Amino acid sequence: MSSKVAIVTGSNKGIGYAIVRGLCKRFEGVVYLTSRDVVRGEKAVSDLQKEGLNPKYHQLDISDNKSVEVFRDHIKETYGGIDVLVNNAAIAFKQSATEPASVQAEQTLAVNYFSTLSTCEILFPILRNGARVVNVSSSAGLLRNIPNKELRKKFEDPTLTIPELSNLMREYIEAAKLGTHAADWGNSSYAVSKVGLTALTKVHQRLLKDRDIKVNAVHPGYVDTDMSSHKGPLSIDEGARGPLYLALDAPDSVRGQYLWYDTTIAS
Ligand code: NDP
Repeated sequence: MSSKVAIVTGSNKGIGYAIVRGLCKRFEGVVYLTSRDVVRGEKAVSDLQKEGLNPKYHQLDISDNKSVEVFRDHIKETYGGIDVLVNNAAIAFKQSATEPASVQAEQTLAVNYFSTLSTCEILFPILRNGARVVNVSSSAGLLRNIPNKELRKKFEDPTLTIPELSNLMREYIEAAKLGTHAADWGNSSYAVSKVGLTALTKVHQRLLKDRDIKVNAVHPGYVDTDMSSHKGPLSIDEGARGPLYLALDAPDSVRGQYLWYDTTIAS
C-alpha cells in the first residue's frame, strides 16, 4: 500500500513550518513542506533536517492554478492520494499599510479565500477516504466581526452554496471599491477573508458528507510570526497545536467545526 501523505500550504515559515515539524514527529507517512518560493522552501527543509526531521518538498503557490495542478499530479502519480491537507497559506496587510481599502480587499480575499477555494477544488478529487482537511482561520474570522445582522445570517445559512459564498466575498470587494464597506462589513479585509474561510469549511463539510472526510477550521492563537509583526505571545509550535490536533487527534465526530487554539469547539 502506498504511503499516507500530509501537505501543509505556505509552510516555509511561521505556523505552517511548525505544523510540518509536528507532523514530521507524529504522522505515519510522508509530510510535504510546500512554499511558493523554492529557495525559501528548501531552506526551511534544510533547517528541519538539522533537527533530524525529514519533510519532502514541493513548490506550491496557491494563487497559481498551474502550480497546484502540477503538485496534484505529482502526488497522484507518486502516492495516489492525500490524507491530510492543511490550508495554512495566507496574507495580511499590516495595520499601518497605506494601500487603499479596495486594494487590500481584492488582494487579501484573492489569496485567503479564492486561492484557498481553488486549491481545494484542484486537490479535493484526490483526497482519500478518512482524509482530514484543516483550514487555518483566525479569531478575526468570527462571524460576530461582521456588523450587519442580515449579512451574518447569509453566512450562517445552512443551505449556503459555494457560488453564493463567493458572491458574498465579491460583494465585499465591490463595497470596498465604492468605499461603502465599513458599516456592513467592518474595516478589515483579513477578517472578511477568514469569515469566508470559516463558512467555506462548513459548506465543504456538507458537500463531502457522503465520504469519510473531515473538514474543520481552527484559530491558531495570536502567534509570534512575521504576520503578527512578532507581537503574538504564542510560539509557532504553540500555534501549531490546534491545527495538529485536527490533523491527527480530533475524534471522527468533529466535522465542519471551528476550533479555538486550545482545541475547544468555538462555534
Ligand atoms: P506568516 O506570514 O508567517 O506565513 C504565511 C505563509 O503563507 C508564508 O509561508 C507565506 O509564504 C505563505 N503564503 C502566502 N501567500 C501564499 C501563496 N499564494 N501560496 C503559497 N504560500 C503563500 O503567517 P503565520 O504563520 O502567522 O500565519 C499562518 C496562518 O495562521 C495564516 O492562515 C494566518 O492567517 C493564520 N493566523 C495567524 C495568526 C498569528 O497570530 N500569526 C493569528 C490567526 C490566524 P512567503 O514566505 O512566500 O510569503
